Amino acid sequence: MSARPTDSPVTTPVPMLDVNRQNAPLLDEINLAIADVTRSGAFVHGPACREFEAAMAEYCGTEHAVGCASGSDALLLALMVLGIEPGDEVIIPSFTFFATAGAVWRLGAKPVFADILPESFNLDPDDVARKITPATKAIMPVHLFGQCVDMAALQEVAGDITIIEDAAQAIGASYRGRRSGSLGKLGCFSFYPTKNLGAMGDAGMITTDDEQLADKLRRLRDHGQHPRYHHAVVGVNSRLDTIQAAVLKTKIAHLDSWATGRQHNAIRYGREFARLGIDQQLGVPVESDGCESIWNQYTVRIPGGRRDEFQQFLAERKIGSAIYYPIPLHLQECFTDLGYQPGSLPITEQAAEEVLSLPIFAELTTAEQDCVIRAAAEFYGIAYSTGNAELAA
Ligand SMILES: *Cc1c(COP(=O)(O)O)cnc(C)c1O
Repeated sequence: MSARPTDSPVTTPVPMLDVNRQNAPLLDEINLAIADVTRSGAFVHGPACREFEAAMAEYCGTEHAVGCASGSDALLLALMVLGIEPGDEVIIPSFTFFATAGAVWRLGAKPVFADILPESFNLDPDDVARKITPATKAIMPVHLFGQCVDMAALQEVAGDITIIEDAAQAIGASYRGRRSGSLGKLGCFSFYPTKNLGAMGDAGMITTDDEQLADKLRRLRDHGQHPRYHHAVVGVNSRLDTIQAAVLKTKIAHLDSWATGRQHNAIRYGREFARLGIDQQLGVPVESDGCESIWNQYTVRIPGGRRDEFQQFLAERKIGSAIYYPIPLHLQECFTDLGYQPGSLPITEQAAEEVLSLPIFAELTTAEQDCVIRAAAEFYGIAYSTGNAELAA
């Protein structure tokens, strides 16, 4: 690590995310819930699992919710329950976390990458339409950064092809008044600690209105057995951990207030960047028509090859930021054989070069947010007065 340049201002660090601030006020309640599991000895699929599954089904507005070990496994199980197999194609975005493609690949099926829309970073339905072949068995849109895909447009091009939502980043996000997880045939969630509803370890969930699929998912996550020691199908070991379920059951009651906190921060960033006249340069994110984002990330764009410079500028001021995602999946080494080249998905590739996510977590203080806004203003050579910011808060 190089020394901090002497001319950079001394400020308190602004973390990209601080999970402890969210968990701290709930620790007594969480510890009691964990102690209940400890005392019960029901460590695998204990009562907390069913209670959390019921809470998730209600929250998402679906008939069923089936817990599993992670968001990655939720995607894998969703593809398995639909019978996706070698020779099948699944259309997914390339601008997403690796798991979306990894799940398709692990079943021996072919990930087919479609480009995104520049404003929302979400799947472009027109490009999806171009990528559909007779082998297309499913489309797996990702509600990236907390905002839903334009599901009506996607449904129109999908026709009879099954849609699986990768809602790992979008718990509680709504599209035309309905929540993610209830918009496709199956919805997949992750409770990785950085998601809006974070566990204290790994956990995942699949939502659906289809009872048969839900039943089959419950078997698949448990080696396909039903009843015990009878295996009509081959599954995996991907159970929801009871301790994680107890933690999540406690935390889900607060999820909407955290989303409101994130939304407040997003609105304030947008307003302040506009007031400073740098909202265009920063390509500030906006909600698409019919969408209510849960702001899992607040992702700006720094064009002109200056993104890394801006991130460094923030780092010198001890401000956290992150690049989601620096290398599109279609250009990952492990997918070389799929035959994509630089230029195959131009909007995706441009996004990978320009995006930067800024701190947006609900517990971010106004003073901390001011540090981020001030640094952005400075980067563009504009004076920023804290007084104004406080009046505008
Ligand atoms: C986090 C994430 C996953 C994977 O979830 P894990 O619980 O970490 O396995 C899948 N897809 C997307 C889009 C994600 O952000």
